[in-house]
Amino acid sequence: MAFDPVALDVPTFSDDELADLNREFEGLPASKVIQWAVDCFAPYLCMTASMTDAVLIDLAVKVDPAIEVVFIDTGYHFPETLQTVEDVRRRYGLNMRIMTVAHHAEELWEVDPENCCSAVKVGQLDRALAGKAAWMSGLRRVEAAGRESAPIVVRDLRGLVKVNPIATWTDDDVAGYIADHDVPQNPLVQQGYLSIGCEPCTKPVKPGDDPRSGRWAGRDRTECGLHV
Ligand code: SF4
Repeated sequence: MAFDPVALDVPTFSDDELADLNREFEGLPASKVIQWAVDCFAPYLCMTASMTDAVLIDLAVKVDPAIEVVFIDTGYHFPETLQTVEDVRRRYGLNMRIMTVAHHAEELWEVDPENCCSAVKVGQLDRALAGKAAWMSGLRRVEAAGRESAPIVVRDLRGLVKVNPIATWTDDDVAGYIADHDVPQNPLVQQGYLSIGCEPCTKPVKPGDDPRSGRWAGRDRTECGLHV
């Protein structure tokens, strides 16, 4: 179903209003931003999870325990990531929606990663967002050079409202929250995988390196297209 705020009976925001909100949200804690998103858009709201850690999930379920959490199972994930999905689902009793992909040619990621990401990841996200008015992700500005000006709230290419409640968080903020709240984390992080995607396209990084430099390492690619 295409996004229609009138049919969904949710508030509408012009681009200027979203820009004003974005400025306001710069000074607010993530939980307040999540509360705004839930108040405006639930139940036509979901959040995506990469399962590097469960920080955004921990924050979100404290605001709305029923929030829909979307995980895109590309068929190429590390076993540790799939175990983290199960651990997190059990820990929080999540309303989880796992988007699975029909069997695809194994070599697609190797010969044509753009189309692989597009077909496997972006296509599944499009499916997950059908009928939604807004979505949230754990995207942060310090994760990569191309993310340094990521907004906290913005309109995405589908016309949906995209919310990044922890966009301003540093790595220390994340580590501190994980320690303070005993938040589950993918065990691969301790092995140097600071940004975790599909196994064939993710490598560990050295201390101090761009966390996302291990994604599609050696290829002319830094994003899968989910956050365009
Ligand atoms: S990250 Fe690699 S395996 Fe995963 S969808 Fe993209 S190209 Fe395919």
